[in-house]
Amino acid sequence: MPYSPSVLNNALEAVGNTPLIRLDKIAEQEGLQCNLLGKVEYTSAGGSVKDRIAKRMVEEAEKDNKLIPGQSVVIEPTSGNTGIGLAMACAVKGYSVIITMPNKMSLEKEAALRALGAEVVRTPTEAAWDSPDSHIGVALKLQREIPGGIILDQYRNLNNPLAHELTTGPEIIDAVTSTPSTTAKPSSEKVDVLVAGAGTGGTITGISRAIKKTHNRDCIVVGVDPKGSILACPDTLNVEGAGSLYIVEGIGYDFIPDVLSRDTADVDSWIKTDDEESFEAVRKLMRLEGLLVGGSSGSALSGALRWLKSAEGKCIAEKKGANVVVLLADGIRNYMSKPWFLKMALEAEPSPLAKRISDILKES
Ligand code: PMP
Repeated sequence: MPYSPSVLNNALEAVGNTPLIRLDKIAEQEGLQCNLLGKVEYTSAGGSVKDRIAKRMVEEAEKDNKLIPGQSVVIEPTSGNTGIGLAMACAVKGYSVIITMPNKMSLEKEAALRALGAEVVRTPTEAAWDSPDSHIGVALKLQREIPGGIILDQYRNLNNPLAHELTTGPEIIDAVTSTPSTTAKPSSEKVDVLVAGAGTGGTITGISRAIKKTHNRDCIVVGVDPKGSILACPDTLNVEGAGSLYIVEGIGYDFIPDVLSRDTADVDSWIKTDDEESFEAVRKLMRLEGLLVGGSSGSALSGALRWLKSAEGKCIAEKKGANVVVLLADGIRNYMSKPWFLKMALEAEPSPLAKRISDILKES
């Protein structure tokens, strides 16, 4: 939980204010001269970057008198993290919540949602976004039938990118500008590159706007999109693996959400990633940096490393003091029972130390 010097009124006040942490060992292993910095969102109260938009969407709806305590039922289609943020906000504020979520999303997310008092409806992962069976279709059906039902709609709600323009972006800028350059740790004291995965696209769009409008117009913003999704731009990037399913949760879609800016003024370039490289990058973040991140954080790191090796990124990779910020969207809490994580954690090659332990125990 982020440290606060004073007593907080409720859990929502512990949303955001997340740390920006140097990823020096990974940078060294990859031969990078630039700084690699992780914006670690799992320390937010609900465990992800999406707490910020949940809090803002609820509070702005309250200001517009769209939410009435005791009457309103917040319904939201989500890959889980927005749902957890909303369920947390609604627990604090006293609204009922229904979350619709594709089957592929983890049991841990469903358990966290139910523990916070939300109802959870699972939907077929393969259902197209505009099918009545999809998480979006089912949410719309429930809204039509349930009195007081309201969909805050993260895919269209401008408070989604705005939450990041007003909080995530400024926090990154503050951290980078308030850490002076030293001989041991040179820094441009600017955000030179920002890399983030996209689901609704609110995170990357909002952070990009904050940085480019108020801090560094020339910052290069790189979006990360899984193979099988269609968010990357230009569309030709999405041909390889089109329509294939992927395991990483929270990024990629089969439609372009309104809040995702595909304007190259906001997102300069895109990298496509696959599951394998994402999970390998999660392992690196855990083993080398001690960061217990989730799968999409691995995609973001893997995308960042691939971009830094590309013709476009090479000059940044070789530039001492350039700051490359990678958005690490959630934590491993959400994925502890997923086969990809259990395999990584429990089926690794025994280390020399493990072999020694087993020899000692056999001897005795
Ligand atoms: N990673 C994870 C784990 C997420 O839950 C989300 C939200 N769907 C994202 C990344 C992407 O965030 P955004 O919706 O703002 O693009």
